[in-house]
Amino acid sequence: MMKRKLVFATNNAHKLEEVAAILGEQVELLSLNDIDCRTDIPETAATLEGNALLKSSFIFKNYGLDCFADDTGLEVEALDGAPGVYSARYAGGEGHDSQANMLKLLHDLEGKENRKAQFRTAISLILDGKEYLFEGVIKGEIIKEKRGDSGFGYDPVFMPEGYDRTFAELGNDIKNQISHRALAIQKLCEFLQS
Ligand code: IMP
Repeated sequence: MMKRKLVFATNNAHKLEEVAAILGEQVELLSLNDIDCRTDIPETAATLEGNALLKSSFIFKNYGLDCFADDTGLEVEALDGAPGVYSARYAGGEGHDSQANMLKLLHDLEGKENRKAQFRTAISLILDGKEYLFEGVIKGEIIKEKRGDSGFGYDPVFMPEGYDRTFAELGNDIKNQISHRALAIQKLCEFLQS
């Protein structure tokens, strides 16, 4: 039987590995590099779902391939869901300055009792021209000072519900079993296998 080809609209090696491990042998997973897509696909939508769909539909329109894309944000209750879709560039600039982003977050939450937050991942899949959406959520809270040094992004300040350690203290093995992204990816994989 021919393997189904599926593009994951990313070049993030860690994400590709995580998905490949769950999908196993039955799907040939391709990255943006694998299909020679060098475009920086715009992520200009106002929602995670919108950004994921921008990326998956870009690939479908330009390459005609089945494809999925993800987008993730940290949503803080007392900040009305911020930084949300702007998580990577919360502190301004080009973005991806995790230390500056965490400092801003801790500052914005100073004096606030409610520190509830969640990570949410949206995955947009386009299969045979049809669109599907999957979501993964993990609830937790933003602690007052950074703890731990594994992981990335907001991991040192996020403590998942039911744990007394931050994502950065739990380490990747545990985090990757319970994370927002893992949950969304599991739903995608269950759908593809059904
Ligand atoms: P992306 O959509 O996966 O690129 O995530 C957007 C931003 O959300 C990242 O730049 C991080 O700031 C934050 N983020 C996403 N996933 C995680 C995570 O697992 N831990 C901590 N921060 C994350």
